[in-house]
Amino acid sequence: MTTSTIRVRYAPSPTGDFHVGGARTALFNYLFARHHEGKFILRIEDTDQKRYNPDALGWLLNGLRYLGLNWDEGPEVGGEYGPYVQTERLDIYQKYCHQLLDAGQAYYCFCTSERLEKVHQEQEKKKLLPGYDRYCRDLDLNEAAERVAKGESFTVRAKLPIEGDITFYDTIRGEITFSYTMLQDAVLMKSDGIPTYHLANVIDDHLMEISHILRGDEWINSIPLHLFLYQAFGWQPPIMAHLPLILNPTGKGKMSKREDRAPDGRLLPVFVRSFEKKGYLPEAMVNYLALLGWSYDDHTEIMTMAELIERFSLERVKSAPAAWNYEKLDYFSGDTIRRLPIEDLTDRLLPFLAEAGIQAKREKMLLITPLIRERIKTLSEAAAWIDFFFMAELPSYDTALLIPKKTTAAVTLTILERAQQILTTVEFTHDTLENALSAEANKLGLKTGQMFQPIRVAVCGRTVAPPLFETLVVLGRELSLKRIGQAIAKIRNTH
Ligand code: GLU
Repeated sequence: MTTSTIRVRYAPSPTGDFHVGGARTALFNYLFARHHEGKFILRIEDTDQKRYNPDALGWLLNGLRYLGLNWDEGPEVGGEYGPYVQTERLDIYQKYCHQLLDAGQAYYCFCTSERLEKVHQEQEKKKLLPGYDRYCRDLDLNEAAERVAKGESFTVRAKLPIEGDITFYDTIRGEITFSYTMLQDAVLMKSDGIPTYHLANVIDDHLMEISHILRGDEWINSIPLHLFLYQAFGWQPPIMAHLPLILNPTGKGKMSKREDRAPDGRLLPVFVRSFEKKGYLPEAMVNYLALLGWSYDDHTEIMTMAELIERFSLERVKSAPAAWNYEKLDYFSGDTIRRLPIEDLTDRLLPFLAEAGIQAKREKMLLITPLIRERIKTLSEAAAWIDFFFMAELPSYDTALLIPKKTTAAVTLTILERAQQILTTVEFTHDTLENALSAEANKLGLKTGQMFQPIRVAVCGRTVAPPLFETLVVLGRELSLKRIGQAIAKIRNTH
């Protein structure tokens, strides 16, 4: 196969939020396509109208764009194999459905839901496997067509072999065999004229000339039916690869479809837009997701999109399930943040600061970003670190925070008064501030840590804050002195 014939698709159903499991599937398809210089196609499988969610498409498209998984064909970009939304292709499915009926590979079924319900109850009573009893399977086609013409409600079902086995080869899992005795004459066309997933999926993969199907392994059980359809149409099925399951962080059970709370009350995100909102960098998300079931070698972890594209191969996708790991993602995210140039990081931080109510000027942020880039793992964490730079007045804080361990209020007062004198006169640069304040600690017989704490709390309003001297430089003489003055007053008032 030449590389130019590689065409893969991500084919989500717009039934809910865009889950990271779906994002992993999309990413593997994307990497595979880019690696082979093939095409990455986005197809919207919206034939299940009962589960349709009008917000889902927006979440999906935004999520893919946030991750940088741009599709070559699909909604909004078009392409030669469109339309790419299944409900816009209903006449195509009708045509192929009739082809199956005429060939005797499918049949009209007139069973009402009441009848099907009764059959189901009987099966339960007799402890038989549930399923359709093939009541309409042998109806005469002309007779059936007459009933259809008279307006009787019907579905179309696949006329599957009743016995025998079917074996196929999955690139990741190897050979898999199913017995037809376990299968149902599944519905292909519903009574409203809309196909089921199976029929539409097979027709579209063929018409869109999909070369490889890479999807979650929950679809493995559909394969015998799909292969039957390929055979019935006389088409060559694409190569199949079913990606490993993603498990909960505990390693037990499939990863949650909902956003649950951890024991400590934290919300555990599972939707792409939640990670985006928290300010996980897309580079880190992509890097992390790529390693959920795939690896380059046994040690390389941090990789750019370009490296992933260059290195991705189906041979190194594992079949064993992979457990989600929030700590690892945080590590990737923090690492990616530290590697970004200051300008780039600043530009990405600004909207998050605005969201938190901080109207920061880019120029000023260019000075502040270096002070926190080692300290944050996501962009949304920045606001809480640096809000004090942008406040005219600090919110009130506990006076006790000013007083270092093993010292007293009186010592603290001295520290702050000396600092006040020093900051009034000394040049406002990192080194001069550090030298002057360290020398003063020496003179007072204090550790520098003890000396710096009251100053830090005075200017930031908290004990954990960005590095002190850089902070003072950015705050400037006037504001620093004002806050130290306020801290002195606080101590005097309470002690
Ligand atoms: N529409 C299916 C889904 O929601 C697609 C499965 C497939 O890729 O064939 O995941």
